[in-house]
Amino acid sequence: MTAYPQVKMLIAGQWVAEGGGDENGTSMAIVNPATEQTIGSAPKVSREQLDAALNAADAAFPMWSATPAIERYRIIRRAADLLRERAQGIARVITLEMGKPHAQALGETTGAADLIDFLAEEAKRQGGRLVPTRSAAILEQRVTQEPVGPAILLTPWNFPINLPAKKIAGALAAGCSAILKPAETTPASAQMLVECFVDAGLPDGVLNLVFGDPAMISEHLIASPVSRKVSFTGSTAVGKHLGALAAQGMKRFTPELGGHAPVVIGESADFDRTIAACAATKFRNAGQICVSPTRFLVARSIFDKFVAEFASRSQAIKIGDASADDSVEMGPLAHAGRVSAMEDLMASMGDGAGEIVAGGSAIAGPGHFFQPTVIAAPSPGSKLMNEEPFGPVAGIVPYDDIADAVKIANSLRYGLAAYAFTSNLDESHYLGKTLRAGMVAINHFGVGSPETPFGGIGDSGFGSESGVEGYLGYTETKLVTVAKSAP
Ligand code: NAD
Repeated sequence: MTAYPQVKMLIAGQWVAEGGGDENGTSMAIVNPATEQTIGSAPKVSREQLDAALNAADAAFPMWSATPAIERYRIIRRAADLLRERAQGIARVITLEMGKPHAQALGETTGAADLIDFLAEEAKRQGGRLVPTRSAAILEQRVTQEPVGPAILLTPWNFPINLPAKKIAGALAAGCSAILKPAETTPASAQMLVECFVDAGLPDGVLNLVFGDPAMISEHLIASPVSRKVSFTGSTAVGKHLGALAAQGMKRFTPELGGHAPVVIGESADFDRTIAACAATKFRNAGQICVSPTRFLVARSIFDKFVAEFASRSQAIKIGDASADDSVEMGPLAHAGRVSAMEDLMASMGDGAGEIVAGGSAIAGPGHFFQPTVIAAPSPGSKLMNEEPFGPVAGIVPYDDIADAVKIANSLRYGLAAYAFTSNLDESHYLGKTLRAGMVAINHFGVGSPETPFGGIGDSGFGSESGVEGYLGYTETKLVTVAKSAP
């Protein structure tokens, strides 16, 4: 049985167990979503404690940004090594806090270590550039990327290690100090990640960690003149609100928001490989992934076979309390609100909204479980085809012409990930070019590697994390141009 740690904040290099609190108390209960049992509690930060974290990040920034890149790299790389060493224990805590099966939680943790490695390396590589001048009197035009300043990092519960890791490593590698506010429901995972950085030798104040009411914390931190960058992963509605707050202070803002990813499946696709990849990826993390495939657009000639096979695979998934059984393939949803959201989606299934061919209901408790659900031929106007489900629900729609499939795929304001499966070279090229999204993957679902940029367009946000872009997002461009001192 995994012991749940005592949860502490990190403010100015001190681990803080006592929250100063807000109007609603000084601590919050942490619940295992598979059992609905309270497993621990986390302190809630007060405004005074937030000010202490801001002061610490402000004071640490000049020192950390002036630390040679090679030294920043060494500390951040050591943190990645510690994360790998501690991955088994951290993965157990992820499962306790948000229900993800152990193998997925372990993969998330070791994958996060790879992300940290890559971003740490970038600290050594980004040297700026010299631009040729237009006149002999101008001796030099030097363009450098300067760390933007103290960064506010706001992360959700669905990837409680990967998302904070991307943001922390990008910020620290670039020379920024930071304050992380992870999701209310997954504080211990974030704490264990931050401990890796502290134990790796990160100086006091460079990285701070706070828990509590998300609206109070984000408003306080973004309004402060100390913060210069805000990076948020979460829903589009909250992202728009935080973007408006960041704009008030002209702060750099990177929103990584929701998606409603289409998957175009051509007649020529290798059927067995495609259906296996689609069914497995759809129900990963119980569908609670911003790049989860949700709208399957399938060539009519293979539609019936695809629906039948998808339904039978979804019914074979082993569901349960992953904190008690490592063979569980799909855990609970993160909290009761997600189950209600799935029930609302099912309640909207009126005439023409589609046929439920698998699942469709919550599973009796304890625990926030919902059946893997497959809906055939939802109409274009249905809620499922228009609003991000963020749960274990797939809609499958037939198409006659590939151009129609692209039209449906591109019909929403979201534009995070889009996928296609085809063995036709021309079709592959056409889909890669015409699908409107920040990331397009053809014949696989892999859009999250450390070396490549991850981000969306439209209502899915802007900017990228991971890849070189994940480092550059914590910098601002500076030109230094030098003329001869005398003619
Ligand atoms: P929610 O909007 O209540 O919470 C989602 C996350 O946003 C939480 O981690 C929360 O701490 C944070 N948040 C909420 N209000 C905030 C504020 N004012 N300032 C800072 N952070 C704030 O919704 P939920 O039911 O927990 O999650 C479902 C929704 O969230 C879905 O619609 C999905 O789009 C979105 N979501 C997206 C991602 C992603 O990876 N893009 C991850 C998790 C949740």
